[in-house]
Amino acid sequence: MSNDCLFCKISTGEIPSAKVYEDEHVYAFLDISQVTKGHTLIIPKQHAKDIYETPAEVAQHLFSRVPKIANAIKEAYQPVGLNILNNNGEDAGQSVFHVHIHLIPRYGKGDGFG
Ligand code: 5GP
Ligand code: ZN
Repeated sequence: MSNDCLFCKISTGEIPSAKVYEDEHVYAFLDISQVTKGHTLIIPKQHAKDIYETPAEVAQHLFSRVPKIANAIKEAYQPVGLNILNNNGEDAGQSVFHVHIHLIPRYGKGDGFG
């Protein structure tokens, strides 16, 4: 837990979020600024700034949950596709410095992403 980290506060419930999934190691929630319907973020509960600073074991937990959460999104929103994205560094588009994976459901051309 990093005291001044937004996503640490979200994972503990100190800051509210729309929870999609939670277990001992990870927390998933809807992005506040949905690029498409069902846009979800998955974070490890253990703080790491970006993928470079993520211990392998933490990354293993984080990435291993992707299929399960992708399937939950598929069932809930019935998208026609899904993009998985991880930004590292400001120049790559990272704006919150707690490592996270974006799951972006796709609904065909003109869905607002890409
Ligand atoms: P990044 O740009 O770092 O890859 O992604 C950060 C994401 O966090 C952005 O898509 C942004 O909309 C989302 N975000 C920022 N602040 C909040 C918040 O307070 N709550 C939620 N649910 N998402 C947030
Ligand atoms: Zn954090």
